[in-house]
Amino acid sequence: VPASSPAPHVAVVAFPFSSHAAVLLAFARALAAAAAPAGATLSFLSTAGSVAQLHGAAGAELPGNLRFVEVPDGAGAHAAKGAVPVPVPRQMELFMAAAEAGGVKAGLEAARAAAGGARVSCVVGDVFVWPAADAAAAAGAPWVPVWTAASCALLAHLRTDALRADIGDQGSKRPHLDQRLCVCICAATAASRADELLVSHPGLGSYRVRDLPDGVVSGDFDYVISRLVHRMGQLLPRAAAAAVALNTFPGLDPPDVTAALAETLPNCLPLGPYHLLLPKESTDAAAPAAGDPHGCLAWLDAHPARSVAYVSFGTVASPRPDELRELAAGLESSGAPFLWSLREDSWPLLPPGFLACAAAGGAGSGLVVPWAPQVAVLRHASVGAFVTHAGWASVLEGVSCGVPMACSPFFGDQRMNARSVASVWGFGAAFEGATMTRAGVAAAVGALLRGEEGARMRARAQELQAAVAAAFAPGGACRRNFDKFVEIVCRV
Ligand code: UDP
Repeated sequence: VPASSPAPHVAVVAFPFSSHAAVLLAFARALAAAAAPAGATLSFLSTAGSVAQLHGAAGAELPGNLRFVEVPDGAGAHAAKGAVPVPVPRQMELFMAAAEAGGVKAGLEAARAAAGGARVSCVVGDVFVWPAADAAAAAGAPWVPVWTAASCALLAHLRTDALRADIGDQGSKRPHLDQRLCVCICAATAASRADELLVSHPGLGSYRVRDLPDGVVSGDFDYVISRLVHRMGQLLPRAAAAAVALNTFPGLDPPDVTAALAETLPNCLPLGPYHLLLPKESTDAAAPAAGDPHGCLAWLDAHPARSVAYVSFGTVASPRPDELRELAAGLESSGAPFLWSLREDSWPLLPPGFLACAAAGGAGSGLVVPWAPQVAVLRHASVGAFVTHAGWASVLEGVSCGVPMACSPFFGDQRMNARSVASVWGFGAAFEGATMTRAGVAAAVGALLRGEEGARMRARAQELQAAVAAAFAPGGACRRNFDKFVEIVCRV
């Protein structure tokens, strides 16, 4: 930066729900480190609740040139002390309404004030918060979007209007029955064509109608996330952004997906998995669960290589009580040691005696914890299988550690991710049927840890693990793309 130019001030706008904000914070930390030589400062915009959570989880200090700035959550009177907790979908609605009504703009002004009046020179943001595009334009700054999920899901959102015209139910508005709503709620057209491959939609030919994210051609089109991603899919191509960061690495997405995306968004930069962007020495400290308060790693140390099944369904999904019991019984009868990250509110739903029995040792023994340092767990040599909901961060973490997976998707884009894992990439399997059964779990875990098919899946995961390592080695494709991204956002 020439002495006369102002230093870059980059605002990073988070979507403050599920794992979105944590993923974007990892991205922002990496950006802060890479942009420091240009004298850049970063303001990370999220709601007060999200900032408090990120502070708690990140543990480690923020880099000196990155600060949190709060944006309105829109909850207002809803959040009055002692009031009934607001359900998450409603929180999302309130947040998006506030963002649209000037919340992001107010955040950019607060960022400017917190930076001693330094104008925001660039707005980087989670694409979900599409009102950031307008707020950036009003502030005279470019908007550089960051997509945190899979490329195929982005493609489905970009093509929602075409997919609806082809297959849609024109909006079924049934209430959400439970988290497996995908299966129960598919109506008329979409349901009758559920197994059809989307061959007439560029880049989506490997996916069936049933794999599409909720709210694209079936489900509740009025649900907050359905509306949000639909709008985002319409606006993103028009934004003509100088770069769109993709959470993928060259070699992962099949060529037809890459080509279809490039057609609509010519400036895509694959530079994920984002958690690997952080300088190596800070990766562990900045992982979502910096510490290991429940002793997962020491417990893993006591097990042979590739013998343990790690089980987690991310930060939002919860199996129904009957399914939870089936899963518990399936893990026990697999005979494999298991490490299960399960939120504590679900523990009373486990079969009587399960926790004591699991802890007793012997075949089929396990450790159940409310939270695990997932990246470190997946990297551990004793983990040989990952039972997952196929959230995108989890899929990327699994593949970058070379661990094959059994996917039990719940909602959103998880079915599409599971389809990619099982049928496009072949480093895992998807559970047949809508829910997990005892026999299905035992068979899937046994196959991954001990079967020939599992060995093939592991080999495929390891191939992709090597591709990730090459992309993140000095001079590798993701490093180069990230350098380009940093250069774009630091232009003032
Ligand atoms: N995670 C973790 N420990 C746990 C459970 C989850 O560190 O015990 C992290 C996991 O590593 C991942 C994120 O939480 O980064 C979950 O993101 P994903 O996209 O897989 O699922 P979501 O929570 O968005 O459904």
